[in-house]
Amino acid sequence: MEYHHTSEMKGVVAEYLNMCIESEHNGLCRADKNTKDAEDANKLSRIVKAYTTVLSELGEDVDREGLLRTPLRAAKAMQFLTKGYQEKTQDILNDAIFDENHEEMVIVKDIELFSLCEHHLVPFFGKAHIAYLPNKKVVGLSKLARIVEIYSRRLQVQERLTKQIASAISEALEPAGVAVVIEAVHMCMVMRGVQKMNASTVTSVMLGRFHDDHKTRKEFLALTIRK
Ligand SMILES: [Zn+2]
Repeated sequence: MEYHHTSEMKGVVAEYLNMCIESEHNGLCRADKNTKDAEDANKLSRIVKAYTTVLSELGEDVDREGLLRTPLRAAKAMQFLTKGYQEKTQDILNDAIFDENHEEMVIVKDIELFSLCEHHLVPFFGKAHIAYLPNKKVVGLSKLARIVEIYSRRLQVQERLTKQIASAISEALEPAGVAVVIEAVHMCMVMRGVQKMNASTVTSVMLGRFHDDHKTRKEFLALTIRK
């Protein structure tokens, strides 16, 4: 929704309202929307309450000025950081896949990613490098970054995140091969001193020709990973 201009947004809202007015189930649209809004509000207030409990159990005075709105902010931040659960890769790829007789390796390097480690609820972040060998179908390059975003904005472990990105591309494009490498720093390790500040964890998934043919794999790795 944020991507729409205000004028477009007004158009969408007007269209929705018209639909409701014209619809035989006129009352239903509004009722559905109200129920959904009420559910969302209830959910948010339960998360806020939970964060208030967490803070006070940590020994904080939840009534002190700096913390007054913290449970609400934290609840909204957590919802934002996990909003990938509400998004499907099919929805964003539907109109972005094209037929193309291109068979050379397509590489997108350094896609920024921010995720939350599911064991500690603490961020891990870094970069994803993606490559695929098209088999008639190609996709807009920005959509590869969107796929990374959809799966990073969930509670994750780096290995699964890497796998999910590779599978999503594989399913959507049916390419001759897919390679995904993620280099990330985990705050849960850095902050506890388990990992040095700049040491990153590298995970990779190689499918199809990237898996079977070591020359293809080597070419991709040489082009992406920094020594
Ligand atoms: Zn962790």
